[in-house]
Amino acid sequence: MSRFLSSRRPVLVTGGAGFIGSHLTERLLADGEQVVVLDNLSTGDLANLERVASHPGLRVLQSDVSGCAELPRLVTESTCVYHLAAAVGVERVLASPLRAIETNLRETQAILIAAADARTPVLLASSSEVYGKTGNTSLREEDDLLIGPPTRPRWSYACSKLMDEFLALAASREQQVPVRVVRLFNTVGPRQTGRHGMVLPRFIEAARTGQPLRIHGDGTQTRCFCHVADTVEAMVRLQATPEAAGEIVNVGSTEETTILALAHLVMEVLSSASSIELVPYDQAWEGGFDDFPKRKPDIEKLERLTGFRPQVGLLAAVRRTAGLE
Ligand code: NAD
Repeated sequence: MSRFLSSRRPVLVTGGAGFIGSHLTERLLADGEQVVVLDNLSTGDLANLERVASHPGLRVLQSDVSGCAELPRLVTESTCVYHLAAAVGVERVLASPLRAIETNLRETQAILIAAADARTPVLLASSSEVYGKTGNTSLREEDDLLIGPPTRPRWSYACSKLMDEFLALAASREQQVPVRVVRLFNTVGPRQTGRHGMVLPRFIEAARTGQPLRIHGDGTQTRCFCHVADTVEAMVRLQATPEAAGEIVNVGSTEETTILALAHLVMEVLSSASSIELVPYDQAWEGGFDDFPKRKPDIEKLERLTGFRPQVGLLAAVRRTAGLE
């Protein structure tokens, strides 16, 4: 892919060939930034960057974050880093908790070490998974966390992201690295793949092909789905907000839906004649699965720091993800 034409300092996006990373990369390029994408293409795809492949401001490096020989120089030279590279997706995590834990810790540590010298600002993409099974109300950044036991491997992802958060805040306090931790709630949009267990692309694919929409559990669990354009807007604003340094900030939609209602909405939007199939957790996942009835963010802090709250409603998010808008 293209090399830079100017000597302007770039922005580094790890995981930039992934779902959220590719939308972020497009946005930064549209803002006139030079962007270096560092991605090992484990779950990402160069096709996600197709629209900007020939942009003179884009450089793509295919490598693990920690295995990139250029990393210290890249981070030092960058105006800021968006660190999105991680082992993601329930199915991938359950397939190898070891890989998920090691990847998420190692790559975040590599970024923070590289950022320490020049105190390069870093935005770390964490996850609402760190809230675990916490409570029934809107989740706030200062809430206590209720994560399941290590005998349930699904919690390894949450714990690895939580440890990333501890690392980031420790680097912020002890080494004055300006780090923002962003807890992303379910993000949806074009290019998200259903391959690793993400619910909306799985539903859309099933509805399109006349397959049953498989719901784990009874479908009464509620979630909030944020369109990726809103997620990207929030991340860009937080990176530009000095008061966000050293902070943890929720990013997500506050519009709740049950998974059953989501399945019906997808079928309606796609005029699909598919059926809905309820799959008990112990059949969906070997050894069962710890789920939680509700996960809704409190986004007062995001709004206070940036003046922004997500704008795209659920119906529009589903339509756009299905490529209808
Ligand atoms: P994604 O899988 O599309 O993106 C992750 C990218 O990181 C991929 O392109 C992958 O190839 C790359 N990658 C993985 N390990 C790497 C490594 N060791 N070195 C270099 N690149 C590596 O997933 P996404 O949904 O775009 O997620 C982006 C970030 O947002 C992740 O950190 C994820 O944990 C977080 N997040 C996403 C959601 C969501 O709903 N999509 C929710 C919470 C948190």
